[in-house]
Amino acid sequence: MDLGLAGKRAIICASSKGLGFGCASALAEAGVEIVMNARTKETLDAAADSIRTAGGTVVAAVAADITTPQGRQAVLDAAGDVDILVTNAGGPPPGMWNDWSRDDFIAAIDANMLAPIAMMQAVLPGMMDRGWGRVVNITSQSVKAPIAVLGLSNAARTGLTGFVAGTSRQVAPSGVTINNLLPGIHATDRAVSLDTVAAKADNITMEEAIAKRQATIPARRYGTIEEFGAACAFLCSKHAGFIVGQNILLDGGGVNSTL
Ligand code: NAP
Repeated sequence: MDLGLAGKRAIICASSKGLGFGCASALAEAGVEIVMNARTKETLDAAADSIRTAGGTVVAAVAADITTPQGRQAVLDAAGDVDILVTNAGGPPPGMWNDWSRDDFIAAIDANMLAPIAMMQAVLPGMMDRGWGRVVNITSQSVKAPIAVLGLSNAARTGLTGFVAGTSRQVAPSGVTINNLLPGIHATDRAVSLDTVAAKADNITMEEAIAKRQATIPARRYGTIEEFGAACAFLCSKHAGFIVGQNILLDGGGVNSTL
């Protein structure tokens, strides 16, 4: 299928590894000129090189913290006008509901709500002027079904989801779509760190913790970053212009709901 994305330009935040890298790879494969970002320069440069080696165009790889105003400005300056924005950042740590202070909540809200909103506010006017744009926010299945130990994530991402629900309807008349992709468990470093915590808490091995989690997923496995990237590329494609303000689960059936 021709996604109609050749020559478009995209920012993919937090994209040296994991789901962000999956999105960057899939968009580059579809002919998009990409701007990548992460905090650690070495990993980011290696990720950009691997995409270039595979034939993709990486316009810039900006080592910056996307949760800070300075980091976002550096990415936006390197990118110029963009047609596509994929927002992403690290997830907050797990814990118990009474563990978290105001500062913990502010950090989670900065990373998983206010940073994506600020990036949207920066690029949406240009997309609307040009009459075409795509925004995909990487959120979490925790928006549909809370994960108790991820209270910070549940809270911050639900705020972003509320913002997108209204804003996506305001920008759609200008040919711009905003949608959220909700990952269930995918085989990335984030899954390793969650499984490490679970193994410790239950006093079991990593293998046992992974098997226990996989048993809760109807697909009986973790998702791959390639699957996630392909879904992102489709949402950015010329075929997805009628998909507006949706929250799309990629979770192997993990969230048990009819709608
Ligand atoms: P990952 O494999 O750990 O990768 C995270 C990426 O984000 C890395 O490239 C990291 O590079 C970058 N990053 C982290 N914080 C950043 C920051 N402040 N500024 C710029 N770049 C940053 O994580 P993932 O599994 O892809 O998860 C991505 C998001 O999806 C997270 O918010 C996670 O909570 C959420 N999620 C993941 C899963 C899953 O199963 N994997 C499920 C539900 C939700 P640096 O560290 O070098 O900055």
